[in-house]
Amino acid sequence: MGFCLINHVAVAALHAVEALGVERVAIVDFDVHHGNGTEVMVAGHAGIRFWSSFQHPFYPYSGVPPLAENCVGLPLAAGSDGEAFRSVWAPVLADMMRWSPQLILVSAGFDAHVRDPLGSLALTQEDFAWMGMQLAEVADRAGAPLVSALEGGYDLDALCESVEAYLRAQL
Ligand SMILES: [Zn+2]
Repeated sequence: MGFCLINHVAVAALHAVEALGVERVAIVDFDVHHGNGTEVMVAGHAGIRFWSSFQHPFYPYSGVPPLAENCVGLPLAAGSDGEAFRSVWAPVLADMMRWSPQLILVSAGFDAHVRDPLGSLALTQEDFAWMGMQLAEVADRAGAPLVSALEGGYDLDALCESVEAYLRAQL
């Protein structure tokens, strides 16, 4: 629907399962927009679980309810801040840890930043650092590679600060 020519994360997940024999692939999507294309591509796929937080209601107006049981939508009302973001993700990350994924793919969009001109959420780089740290911990405990694909982020200064904070937190 206009933001993505090739859905790299969904393609990677399907390739991992179908060509490489990976049995459990987790996809995490914290872009401010719901990962509608990813959800369509992986819905009902036994080896893949998809977790997406997104502003709702907001373009592309999908994700509620999820298309299948392996997809979890975490809608956030406009104006939601880092506290709301962390509180929806914390239990989900615990679920992910229990599932013990063999590969974690992240649709790492930073357009939920408070200064982003498209989204209306109120995250800061500290919240993206928190997410980076949580994901690194799940990956570490599960012994899974953690791969992040850069997605949204339309205030370039906020994007720079957020990507740096997110990556540094994983070290
Ligand atoms: Zn986006």
